[in-house]
Amino acid sequence: MSNLEFIKDCQEKVFSGERISVEDARKLFNVPDEDLKELSKCANEITRDYNGNKVDVEQLNNIKKNACSEDCTFCGQSAFFDTGIETYQLPTPEEVVIKAKKAKEEGADSYCLVAAWKEPSPKDFIKVCKIITEINVKVGISVECSLGFLTKQQASKLKELKVKRYNHNLETAKSKFPEICTTHTYQDRLDTLEIAREAGLELCTGGIIGLGETREQRLELTLELARIYPEEITINILVAVPGTPLELQVDLANSEITRIFSVIRFLLPESVIKISGGRETQLEDSGEELLQSGANGIITEGYLTMGGNKSKKDREMIEKIGLEA
Ligand code: SAM
Ligand code: SF4
Repeated sequence: MSNLEFIKDCQEKVFSGERISVEDARKLFNVPDEDLKELSKCANEITRDYNGNKVDVEQLNNIKKNACSEDCTFCGQSAFFDTGIETYQLPTPEEVVIKAKKAKEEGADSYCLVAAWKEPSPKDFIKVCKIITEINVKVGISVECSLGFLTKQQASKLKELKVKRYNHNLETAKSKFPEICTTHTYQDRLDTLEIAREAGLELCTGGIIGLGETREQRLELTLELARIYPEEITINILVAVPGTPLELQVDLANSEITRIFSVIRFLLPESVIKISGGRETQLEDSGEELLQSGANGIITEGYLTMGGNKSKKDREMIEKIGLEA
């Protein structure tokens, strides 16, 4: 069987509801560069068939810029590195409501509250709950959270407050993780995902590519995501932050980025696959090509510590390629 026939064969398996095997996924991940177009085209057909033309558009609010206790080597908010980041305390519910209203007016499908800490203290968790309650009452937008490690009680409380989805990233392959973080383990991250799922929250998880991992490690992360089968996958492309140990990390080739987005789509046809941090800075086309491949979600109006495209610009881009925001 030629490579092109093999890619088509895998696509047919996906269309017939069959899950592709680890061997198939590895082979797809390693097709030669000249067959990448076909891989991407077939991933696009799966995306359209399972998800239609809608692109999920999310806005973030970094509610706690912090000097975080953890040593994640990519993170500009870790207290271990001198990145000159300004820090601030949690905002009032009123301040967040104004921003969430604006996100809703701009057509965002969801609004994610993110905090740069390892886990919420009991006091801060109460404050975050007040913020969520106010958004529910005064804005009525789908709320998501990314608050680090959670206890079972905290996860249940978030569910009670109608939080739809909980984000907690695996960041990279299990075999790579000890090189990028020593203050907590991969298992800690898996445990939080389990706690969130048991509480009835939908899951959003993924990681960062371009940390210096091998292609095989990107496959390893992909297979772990396929095992967990979250409702949403979020893939960041490393933005090398000055002052962090990864500040001089060489950019990942675009072809490697296409590979992972395409193969994730073959493995998780129904999930939202979101292009997250690095979309505007690491991709020349702000994600146009990936949205016509495996991806069907973006974050607009900026990230945790850096700006991004304006929502209007992103909507125009989505319409230009024949999709719907
Ligand atoms: N502190 C919590 C945690 O670690 O789960 C939640 C927020 S954390 C700041 C949000 C995510 O942003 C990280 O999990 C990581 O995937 C992504 N991120 C952080 N720094 C990044 C960078 N320099 N480039 C790309 N993505 C990054
Ligand atoms: Fe802290 Fe999260 Fe950054 Fe790690 S990724 S240093 S846990 S804020």
